[in-house]
Amino acid sequence: MTVYRGGCHCGNIRVAFETGRAPGDFTPQACQCGFCRKHGTAALSDPDGKLTFTIEDPDNASLYRHGLGLTDFIICRTCGVYVGAHMPDPKGDIANVMVNALDDRERFTNPPQPVVRTEEDEESKRVRRRRQWTPSTIVTGSG
Ligand SMILES: [Zn+2]
Repeated sequence: MTVYRGGCHCGNIRVAFETGRAPGDFTPQACQCGFCRKHGTAALSDPDGKLTFTIEDPDNASLYRHGLGLTDFIICRTCGVYVGAHMPDPKGDIANVMVNALDDRERFTNPPQPVVRTEEDEESKRVRRRRQWTPSTIVTGSG
């Protein structure tokens, strides 16, 4: 397993993405919803990996919700960077991470693949994400 580290620009939100896959094995997913188009989303996930988001000051982080309201879109309120999307789920919380938030973003050389998911309802979204997304935790505070 390799740990790819990154976070927002000011350092309030840090992320660690643990994966056994090589960077060249990933095709970043470019969701085409209105929110993701505005951010130029290119997301990575690995169901066999692990994601940890560490938020030093939760007052300066937004867990923005839109659409079906299932997902916390983790955005720094100070520097504006969108770090990843985290979905609390009864079968275990899962998330993805924005490739551009990683320090080693340049190693993920495959072009993002546009994906349209406007047809998904809550259940189909949960089922797909449980297959694709990464087991995740959000830790707050510096401890
Ligand atoms: Zn920041």
